Amino acid sequence: MDIFAMNVFNDAVMRERLPKATYKALKKTIEDGKALDPDVAEVVANAMKDWAIEKGATHYTHWFQPMTGLTAEKHDSFISPTADGKVIMEFSGKELIKGEPDASSFPSGGIRATFEARGYTAWDCTSPAFAREERNGNITLTIPTVFYSYTGEVLDKKTPLLRSMEALSKQAVRLLKLFGNTTATRVISTVGPEQEYFLIDKSFFDARMDLVLTGRTLFGAPPAKGQEMEDHYFGSIKERIAAFMKELNEELWKLGVLAKTQHNEVAPGQFEIAPIFSTTNVATDHNQLIMDNLKKVALHHDLVCLLHEKPFAGVNGSGKHNNWSMSTNDGQNLLDPGSTPHDNAQFLTFLCAVIKAVDEYSELLRVSAANPGNDHRLGANEAPPAIISMFLGDMLSDIVEQIQNNGGAVSSKPNGTLTVGVSTLPEIPKDNSDRNRTSPFAFTGNKFEFRMVPSSASIAGPNMVLNTIVAESICQIADKLEKAVDFNSELQALLKEILVKHNRIIFNGNNYSEDWVTEAEKRGLPNIKSMVEALEHFIDEKNVNAFEKHGVLSKQEVHSRYEILLEQYSKTINIEAKTMIDMANRLILPAAAKYAADLAGSVQSVKAAVASADTSAQEEVIKEVSSALGSFKAKTVALEKAVLGAADVEDVHANAVYYRDIVFVAMNELRIYGDKLETLVDAELWPLPTYVEMLFII
Ligand code: ADP
Ligand code: MG
Repeated sequence: MDIFAMNVFNDAVMRERLPKATYKALKKTIEDGKALDPDVAEVVANAMKDWAIEKGATHYTHWFQPMTGLTAEKHDSFISPTADGKVIMEFSGKELIKGEPDASSFPSGGIRATFEARGYTAWDCTSPAFAREERNGNITLTIPTVFYSYTGEVLDKKTPLLRSMEALSKQAVRLLKLFGNTTATRVISTVGPEQEYFLIDKSFFDARMDLVLTGRTLFGAPPAKGQEMEDHYFGSIKERIAAFMKELNEELWKLGVLAKTQHNEVAPGQFEIAPIFSTTNVATDHNQLIMDNLKKVALHHDLVCLLHEKPFAGVNGSGKHNNWSMSTNDGQNLLDPGSTPHDNAQFLTFLCAVIKAVDEYSELLRVSAANPGNDHRLGANEAPPAIISMFLGDMLSDIVEQIQNNGGAVSSKPNGTLTVGVSTLPEIPKDNSDRNRTSPFAFTGNKFEFRMVPSSASIAGPNMVLNTIVAESICQIADKLEKAVDFNSELQALLKEILVKHNRIIFNGNNYSEDWVTEAEKRGLPNIKSMVEALEHFIDEKNVNAFEKHGVLSKQEVHSRYEILLEQYSKTINIEAKTMIDMANRLILPAAAKYAADLAGSVQSVKAAVASADTSAQEEVIKEVSSALGSFKAKTVALEKAVLGAADVEDVHANAVYYRDIVFVAMNELRIYGDKLETLVDAELWPLPTYVEMLFII
């Protein structure tokens, strides 16, 4: 309690430090979306500066989230020269509201030419400023901002997220009014993202060029033991890891992040942290702070945190489970079914809106979960498959079926209780549905859990898409109901119509089974297996229209994002391929060649000592190593050629397709022989830490 939010310029600090009128005016902006008055900003800036300086800050920064998916910052000190050769500490309202970092070196997808450098950051007062403290005592006042170009196009992940929140709020309030709610003036989307990550010893990380440059292992033979014993998930937390988690929690709490849950994950060396949910924009900033602190704090413990979606082949990768819901500003969770959901028309309407949105825009949701790392997870046999479907559970599925068949629902399946059969244990109330761990979009009691999100990505994208498509769906429903003569009968007919049309998206079975792939195809559900294929749908007319209609992204902004993401894909594979070639030529090949030469030397010296001695074992291994090495070299040359060929494919989309179909395939072929050599070559000579070391020695 003492340290929680101690470094946050939050509501309590503002109430204490701002004049009443300023505080009230700022609250109006934060809570009701009223435009910010420059005079108010001036007073807030001064209070913020005093607060930060008392904490020891010398600099401030506008903290923003460019299209790299990471955060960016440029620091300025508070100093301002005086006539007598000294300095005073200053920070104006203007400096708080607007910054001007050079925009030319951030991805803009053709919106800006590099010589057109101007870009602006603008204060997002809906996410509180904070003082970031580094271990060396350096403290920086950090102000969350949005980032846009000289001509007004957005260049970041945050602005469209904020726009989508407004769009959702507007449409949801419309619908609530029809249900007689006159008190809710805003609807806020809420998110609790569960973050998975790996930790490995820093000495192993430093010795792996692939981890340093790409975040994942490009070579590595499978260890004798993986995750098959199911002994890591929720296992007892090792002391070294617990010490790391303790420091991580404390750092996050100081920043006002509601760090709550932590546990060992499925793969060896894999863990999870989840905060308590908050509004989508704050949760997005906090998730960035969580990722940032995971990396920084790990180093204090001689560990390195890997956020890549698939650092190791053959064991589970990492994702982010995006728990999402909508709440009114008078405190009602719109996805809370209550105890008799069949009676709860408002809940059923919002539920149907989400079902309709997910079915109509499933490609767009898939786009929002696409990044190069996730191509290793989605569709592979352990992560949610690339097919989007929804899990509703027994109780809701039963109600949905009733509506679909009869136009209305008359009962909710009772929850019941569980008797464990031990006399000292009380009867335990049963939940209204079991869990389904395989579903990419699962109803979990009072929220949906979107499980496809990549572990390293910003959650701004997926939530921007969720908010927009649900806003569009609610908009269509409200359009009809506002014109209804008999609200109740119109509503019943509409919900039935939606469910009959969209029930194909509901699937409560095992999403990992082969049967589901066949069944989904029969239902006409898209199965989009790669990032490049997903991105093709980003610019579908239907999707662009939804973004434009709700003022989330303009057509130009969508197209620029499409290009940026395609380029990011190509660049990622290019870096991985070049890293592999370097490791192949300078690490693996020399080690294997040396081993073969050592063996040959051994044959000669053994024979010299005892002419009749049996050296068949050494000779056998020389043959095996040399043969694998020959193929390895050939595949390296093939990969080099493939990479060179990319320069001839100019079109961004064609270039990405080339990287996926030619370069990536050549990388996988090279890896086979690299991993084969690892199993043959003397461990003393092998130049890379192995999977056993990285996954188990921690
Ligand atoms: P799981 O059992 O699915 O792993 P966790 O407890 O790890 O669950 O995470 C569940 C997440 O869902 C938490 O971040 C929690 O705060 C969040 N959550 C709960 N209610 C809501 C809600 N109404 N909106 C958004 N997120 C929510
Ligand atoms: Mg969890």
